[in-house]
Amino acid sequence: MTQRVALLGGRVEHSISPAMQEAGFRALGLDWRYEAIAVGEADLAPVVSGLRRDGWAGANVTLPHKKRVLELLDSAHDAAVQIGAANTIVTRRGRLHGFNTDAAGLVSDLRRLGVAIRGRPTVILGAGGAARAAAWGLAEAGAELSVLARTLSRARSWGKRWEAAFGRNLRLAPWETEAFSEVEAGSLIINATPVGMWPDVSQCPWPREVSLPSEASLYDLVYRPRPTRLVQIARAAGLEAWTGLGMLIEQGALSLELWTGMEAPRGVMRQAAVGALEVESDQFPHGG
Ligand code: NAP
Repeated sequence: MTQRVALLGGRVEHSISPAMQEAGFRALGLDWRYEAIAVGEADLAPVVSGLRRDGWAGANVTLPHKKRVLELLDSAHDAAVQIGAANTIVTRRGRLHGFNTDAAGLVSDLRRLGVAIRGRPTVILGAGGAARAAAWGLAEAGAELSVLARTLSRARSWGKRWEAAFGRNLRLAPWETEAFSEVEAGSLIINATPVGMWPDVSQCPWPREVSLPSEASLYDLVYRPRPTRLVQIARAAGLEAWTGLGMLIEQGALSLELWTGMEAPRGVMRQAAVGALEVESDQFPHGG
């Protein structure tokens, strides 16, 4: 029977997930549909409730609903509860179960790239939803974390739960030149701010007047454009650096595995995601 999966978000028209997920379904021989649905705050509850009906396998959830959707589900996996956000819903016999595949998606992509994590000083730029998921995944993988953010109170608010779970303090640093210049050599740097994202492609979260630390690795969650300004600067400084496309693909692959119970065809999904981004770059030449 044809199954449907929704993508629920505020703005979904430029998402590459439909192309990526439908390519995955096709490669698995599944006649499934993935439908991007723009949902406002007021409509979230009825739309989520509609996923209980026969024919729905679940959904992905994106900005700005990842947090609020948790209240609308029947159960949530521990990681989603701890992170305080779900990006995946699985429908089983009319009940809705929430998962967070962003954290595992990031860690899995870093592993695919051969990036060392355990025991490594790791700095997350930003304190929003993506930073929180990244902090959770990287702490579980054994990184020594600090957060460098413009609004530190945001990190403080989730840091309490984080500290209780991991039994250590979350180091916080203000968004100031001095804090950037104190990032240790050999660190793993994760950009979890939207700075540099299309259309503001000339922007870079790392201050111009501070050199990037030597032997660092840099991962920019932003993947439009490819590469971002930050990734270009890091590569020019001789660092290994990547955009977040691999994380997007991996979180999608993990979601597909939750809906279907089958191993995701990652190669096919990657090809479709890259293809969809290239089509988009043609339409928006400044998107890189
Ligand atoms: P969010 O909840 O809105 O948080 C954004 C964070 O960035 C906040 O800490 C915010 O600080 C900070 N920030 C924004 N503009 C800034 C600036 N000019 N200078 C310094 N800090 C700034 O957003 P999010 O959901 O965490 O997403 C962040 C980025 O990650 C987005 O670009 C998103 O597309 C990307 N992302 C990628 C993936 C992937 O699969 N690759 C997955 C999830 C998210 P304030 O609190 O002070 O505003």
